[in-house]
Amino acid sequence: MTEIQTRVLRGAEPAKMLRQTIASAKTLFEDQSGTSPTLATLLVGSDAAALAYRASIERTFKKVEIAHRKVELPTETTNSQLARAIQALNNDPDVTGILVLMPLPKHLDPHVVLENISPLKDVDGISPVNAGRLHLGLPSLKPSTPAGGLELLRYYGVDLCGANVAVVGRSNVVGRPLSTMLSHANATVTLCHSKTKNLSQHLRRAEIVCVAAGKPGLVTGRMVRKGALVLDFGVNVTADGKVVGDSDIASLEGIASAITPTPGGTGPVTAMVLARNVLAAGFAQLEGTLDALQELEAMLQCPLPDISEFLEPIQLQD
Ligand code: NAP
Repeated sequence: MTEIQTRVLRGAEPAKMLRQTIASAKTLFEDQSGTSPTLATLLVGSDAAALAYRASIERTFKKVEIAHRKVELPTETTNSQLARAIQALNNDPDVTGILVLMPLPKHLDPHVVLENISPLKDVDGISPVNAGRLHLGLPSLKPSTPAGGLELLRYYGVDLCGANVAVVGRSNVVGRPLSTMLSHANATVTLCHSKTKNLSQHLRRAEIVCVAAGKPGLVTGRMVRKGALVLDFGVNVTADGKVVGDSDIASLEGIASAITPTPGGTGPVTAMVLARNVLAAGFAQLEGTLDALQELEAMLQCPLPDISEFLEPIQLQD
């Protein structure tokens, strides 16, 4: 098999472009509302992954100059105390968006978060209203990780229409909403999970392989077709403290047409999309309806680079 040149699709460039969108949307929101946007993150306990995500939100929100209020509850918080804390943030006019950091301590029920968060402040699109509206193709606040992945593909000129895409992982925050968004973008989607039989058979049919399983090295060069694009959402910390994705980059070199690195791939775009979602939530609250997002969608999209910046646009191979 002749080796092909594998392109590394970094998230820094689309994230930089999104920053421009966020700056102009923030000015518009402040003019219209007379207030400044604020994200409240709610941390219960002190899980290391939740703390790391909160620290990365803090860094991004400093860059985009959106306030970040850190709310903390002790590990022994009960389900009803958690519900009350979310409701207090729903009712706080100074809070534009709410993100409850996961994972919660084991004794807490994640459904308490989904059921209590106001759909108009639900910046990770997890409430039944936003998830249902996404499924139906109605304007909604969309989970930032899959929305960021799609922005990255759009930025690099990947045409999803008619593309065969395999998604590995079906969680409510990444894999499942990603498969819905891809299908709305006219891709043909295969959604794989831990019970999928013969995973590589499904992956080899795909021009684009998206992986969000939380399993280091799950997708290898032997499992994908020549020329496939691999979009990796995985964030795993190895025993020696290294951060790696779900794909085995070394074995994909020379086989995949493009890969996203970890760190530095989907992550930076996710954080910017979260900031954008805070503004989207703010505009929706001004109108009192998620339908307001329909008109805003074009304004909030990442500007596209001049195509001449790329030597060659990415061609998906049949
Ligand atoms: P999750 O809730 O644990 O879901 C993992 C999914 O992967 C499940 O659907 C599971 O299948 C599937 N899976 C696990 N092992 C598999 C295997 N061997 N073969 C096929 N499917 C398998 O995880 P998550 O919250 O979606 O996160 C996934 C990864 O993305 C994690 O590494 C996380 O850190 C990362 N993440 C990244 C970002 C970002 O911004 N890049 C944001 C959030 C999360 P079942 O449904 O059958 O159990």
